[in-house]
Amino acid sequence: MDRTPIGSLKEHLNETVTIQGWLQTLRDQKNMQFLIMRDRTGLVQVAHYRPGNPELGDMISTLGSESALTITGKVVENKVVKLGGLEIQLETLTVENAAETPLPFDPFDNDNLPAIDFRMDWRYLDLRREQNLLLFKVQTVLEHAMREYWLENQFIEIHSPKITGSPSESGAELFEVLYFERKAYLAQSPQFYKQMAMAAGFERVFEIGPVFRADPSFTSRHMTEFTGLDMEISWIESHEDVMAFTEKWLQYAYKRVKETYGSEIQAVFGVDIKVPEVPFPRLTMAEAYAILKAQGYKLPPERKGDLDPGGERAIADYVKEKYDSDFLFVIDWPISVRPFYHMRHPDAPELTRSFDLIAGGLEIATGAQREHRYEVLRQQALEKGLGLENIQYYLDFFRYGAPPHGGFGMGLSRVLMVLLGLPNIRESVFLFRGPNRLTP
Ligand code: ATP
Repeated sequence: MDRTPIGSLKEHLNETVTIQGWLQTLRDQKNMQFLIMRDRTGLVQVAHYRPGNPELGDMISTLGSESALTITGKVVENKVVKLGGLEIQLETLTVENAAETPLPFDPFDNDNLPAIDFRMDWRYLDLRREQNLLLFKVQTVLEHAMREYWLENQFIEIHSPKITGSPSESGAELFEVLYFERKAYLAQSPQFYKQMAMAAGFERVFEIGPVFRADPSFTSRHMTEFTGLDMEISWIESHEDVMAFTEKWLQYAYKRVKETYGSEIQAVFGVDIKVPEVPFPRLTMAEAYAILKAQGYKLPPERKGDLDPGGERAIADYVKEKYDSDFLFVIDWPISVRPFYHMRHPDAPELTRSFDLIAGGLEIATGAQREHRYEVLRQQALEKGLGLENIQYYLDFFRYGAPPHGGFGMGLSRVLMVLLGLPNIRESVFLFRGPNRLTP
């Protein structure tokens, strides 16, 4: 069948076309029936003169909003029609799937949208909203641009296993799975395998893939499964090399999104995409603490050297005010809040060569130079109280020639949250997974 996308109807004036889509609204009058039809390219009005075919008219009157229809008719100019100054004069109509009535909620009544938890139950209806369609178009361009930049810089793509035999890192936040007769775990990061690629001599790798965290928290920025954007590069001198790459990569991705969808994002989300300038400001953790202290901000004591979300926001506000930047790197975190494989500063061994990237007040990435010296790495694992037998396979990567290296892990949905100014990660992911959410 020759289907014409609604968005290109103006190229078919005075022709008979077939469109397929959803009945967004029906205006059912005595003599005239107007069907507002939608596909992913736009909206169009279809007009039916009822007395011309009363039987069809009666059938149309029974149609519920959001029914899936195939419609054939002639495209004519009609200056009074707000939707593009044209309409389709209906000739035939096939109901592909009649929508039940009433709908669980009206996805197009922006003023009365139910809360996100309810909308998640009906995510396929929620995703019909213009905002969500655009969001996933933006996500596609964003990811594509990130890949483009990586490929232009000679990166190799890897796909690391998501089922692992032993807990990596601390073992916290790990989902256990039954693996035949034994226990296995869902990967909480591709970290070890990215580093294996460095030991393998790949020099520059990236991975976009699922990450699992058995984190029982209910925040606006955590999920139990998310898409991780990960990269790792070799032959670096310090974490500075990783940050310098990260900021240019992100700048490129923002630029591509703005070029492609900047005006639509402005219209639908009311957000003006600002391509960030590089370098992003860098603050050491010690400087960040001093700033918070001067502002009278009290970090919760259980954080023990970490920042809490309020602290991240306060520092971000400070940087916005002082440097007019929405991005900042907080660097040189204490080893107490970093994993054992982060490299320490040679002259300040309590600090690591690590960074968090904060965007719009939200942490979107963690990165570091990794410790590549076998004995030092082993020692750092012991100091963290890790059982070496579980990670020996990983430590072995560093026994037969391993380059200095570093990288980062970033959450795709967090980047989208920041990019589009969304208040909750549940809005920026195709399907949310949380402690109480395994469906749809
Ligand atoms: P947070 O402090 O926000 O819990 P984290 O320090 O545990 O994050 P990392 O393990 O460093 O995060 O992961 C790297 C990145 O992955 C984070 O900066 C974030 O963008 C993303 N990320 C981590 N955990 C989650 C999660 N549960 N849901 C969504 N994205 C996440």
